Amino acid sequence: MELANRLTKITGGGSDGWDVFYRARRMIDAGVAVTELTIGEHDIRTNPDILKAMHQAAIGGHTVYAEVPGTAKLRAAVAARITQRTAVPTAAENILITPGGQAGLFAAHHAVCDQGDTALYIDPYYATYPGTIRSLGAVAKPIVTSPDTGFQPTKAAIEAAAPSAKSLLINSPNNPTGTVYSEQVLTGIAEACQTHDLWLISDEVYDTQVWEGTHISPRSLPGMAERTLVVGSMSKSHAMTGSRVGWVCGPADVIGHLITLATHTTYGVPGYIQDAATFALGQGTKPEEAVAAPFRRRRELTLQALADQNVIRAVPAQGAMYVMLDIRATGLSGEGFANALLDAEHIAVMPGESFGQGALGHVRVAMTIDDDSYVSALQKLVGFAKKQANLQ
Ligand code: PMP
Repeated sequence: MELANRLTKITGGGSDGWDVFYRARRMIDAGVAVTELTIGEHDIRTNPDILKAMHQAAIGGHTVYAEVPGTAKLRAAVAARITQRTAVPTAAENILITPGGQAGLFAAHHAVCDQGDTALYIDPYYATYPGTIRSLGAVAKPIVTSPDTGFQPTKAAIEAAAPSAKSLLINSPNNPTGTVYSEQVLTGIAEACQTHDLWLISDEVYDTQVWEGTHISPRSLPGMAERTLVVGSMSKSHAMTGSRVGWVCGPADVIGHLITLATHTTYGVPGYIQDAATFALGQGTKPEEAVAAPFRRRRELTLQALADQNVIRAVPAQGAMYVMLDIRATGLSGEGFANALLDAEHIAVMPGESFGQGALGHVRVAMTIDDDSYVSALQKLVGFAKKQANLQ
C-alpha cells in the first residue's frame, strides 16, 4: 500500500545535520555526561503559579471540550497583548488559539497555500519550516541570507523570488541566527509583499527576547494588517513549551476559515491549559522578563568568552536564546566541527547544516544551561577550535 507523498516527503531526505543531535542523545542514554547546547528548551520550568492556575482549572472541571477557536478570555487576552505591543487594533475575532506556534505555522500556511503553490522562507531557518510547507503539498523555496549581512534578507532577493510565490515566512527575532530584522528590512519586505501580492507569515515566538534593537511586528506596517498572519506562542515567553499553546493572529475572515480547519483537525486546545495561559498573560510583562533574563545574561557571557581570540566569530545575536558561531577558521564544516567537538569534549551543538545553506561553516549554540556550565562549555569549545585551527 502506498502512502501519500505529502506525508512521506515532509523531510527532504539525506543528511540534514541532525545526526549529531541524535548521536548526543544516544551517548547520554549510554551514560556519557554530554553538555547539550542543542534545542531551544529553557533550563527553568513553567512558573508554579501558572501550574496552580492550570490545576485549579482542571479540578474545577475545565477538562471538557474547550471552545474550538480558543476560550473567549484567552483570545481577548492575546488580542489585548498584541494591541498593546504593536498598536494595531486587535480583537478576539482576529485570534485563533492553537496547540503551540508549530500548529500555528501549519494553519497559517494552510490558509494561504494550495497544493503546488510556492511558499518562500528565509534560510537559515527554523528546522521545521520546509517540512511544514511540504506537508501541504506546497513547494518550499528558500531565500538564502548571508552572515556578511548579519543574515538580514534583502528586498531585492525577495523581489527576485516573489513572482512565482504565494507567501513569505519570516522569523524575527530569528532562530537560529539571533538576528532581529531592522525597520528598513521589514519595510522592504512589506513593500515586496504588496507589489507581488504575497501573504506574509510572521513567526514572532521570540518577541519577548530582544537584546539589541527593537522588535517590530510587520503587521503594524502600512497596508500589512490585511495580508499578514502572525504566529505567536507561550512556549518561549513563559517557558511553557510542553503546554502546547500558541496562536495565529490575522484578518477576521481568515481566522474564521482557520476555526473551520481547527474543528476538523485539533478540535482546540485543552481548557485548563488555556486558563493557565490566560492567567500567565494576566501577570503582565514581569514574568516574561524573568524568563528572558538568563538568555540576556548568557549572551553577554558569550561575548566575554569569545573576546581576545579570532578563531571563532560570534554573529551578533540581537535576540532569541541562541548564538551562531562562525567556525570557518578551523577549516571544518559545521557538521565536522559539531561531531568532532562531541567526541573530544562531550559538548553537543547544532551544525549550521541543520538550518540551511546560509549557515554552512557555522554552529548554533543554545544558551540553555546554567551560567557557570555554559561559560565552561564555551571555553572548552574555543580551546577545541584553536587546536583545530592550528592543525591547518
Ligand atoms: N518558531 C520558531 C522559530 C521556533 O524556534 C519554535 C520552537 N523552537 C517554534 C516556532 C514552535 O514553537 P512552539 O510550537 O513550541 O510554540
